Amino acid sequence: MSDPSTPVRWGIELAKLWRCAGLGFPVDVKLLALDYTSKKFSDPIGEIIDHAPHGLDGIDGMLVRRKKRGDWCISYDGNITIPGRVNFTLAHELGHYLLHRTSRDDFRCGQEQMMDYESVESKRIENQANVFASYLLMPRTDFEEQIQGQQITFDLLGDCAARYGTSLTATALKWLEFTEDAAMLIVADADDFIHWSYCSQAAKRIHCYRAPGEELPDAVKTSLRDGKLIHGLTRRVAPGVWHATAEAIESLVISDQFEQRIFLVKFPYASSRDYEKDDEVDAFDVLSERAKGFNWTK
Ligand SMILES: [Zn+2]
Repeated sequence: MSDPSTPVRWGIELAKLWRCAGLGFPVDVKLLALDYTSKKFSDPIGEIIDHAPHGLDGIDGMLVRRKKRGDWCISYDGNITIPGRVNFTLAHELGHYLLHRTSRDDFRCGQEQMMDYESVESKRIENQANVFASYLLMPRTDFEEQIQGQQITFDLLGDCAARYGTSLTATALKWLEFTEDAAMLIVADADDFIHWSYCSQAAKRIHCYRAPGEELPDAVKTSLRDGKLIHGLTRRVAPGVWHATAEAIESLVISDQFEQRIFLVKFPYASSRDYEKDDEVDAFDVLSERAKGFNWTK
């Protein structure tokens, strides 16, 4: 059989291989990358090392061709202590190896490369590497089994993140990607400005998107200031706060590390009358592209 040609197919294929070998979650990307590529390719990944002692600040992960040895080396920032982030970084670099190594000898990836894409091409390949990583680490069928019949909460997503060895944010994004529920994730700074947001398909249809740089809704800011909205709290929010006509269920976690507020907002009561039928959906799609993807750094 020929090699898969898309990030999704590669991710599914390697996840399957991992499971068929009788191995459980989380996928040990280090083991998989070294073993699989050495059996399959003449220019395998020969080594995976921590580059933190070499002072490569700001680079989460790298994939570099070693011409003399005829192989590739993945390196990562071992100083990063956020659960799940290193594993996602390694999967991301493995994605570059499988999908992009014929086009370049050197990939340097970090937060900046993820969110402020320098060019359409680098945006494309970074997105592809993230899509691959998400399919490898969080296979959809398994994810669906884990959450079946349960209310989606940060606690449940946290359980899934622990299972897959991924960050809470990457796990929430994966759920939003396949869910039929109208829901969105919003990451805001401590000064109430929205850093980025991501909507499920159903949430896009009711136009829930929030642009980077927008402020949080006034009612949310007031609740935060008055101490009524705190870490771990879930509450019902009236129409007019997160959506003009739909009531919402809002949950908040506060990430100490970045002083960020991460909101999970669900619209379980949004009815078809909230769905506007106009051409704006395309525009929203384009705008949301910027914040899309599995940014493992948050
Ligand atoms: Zn990358």
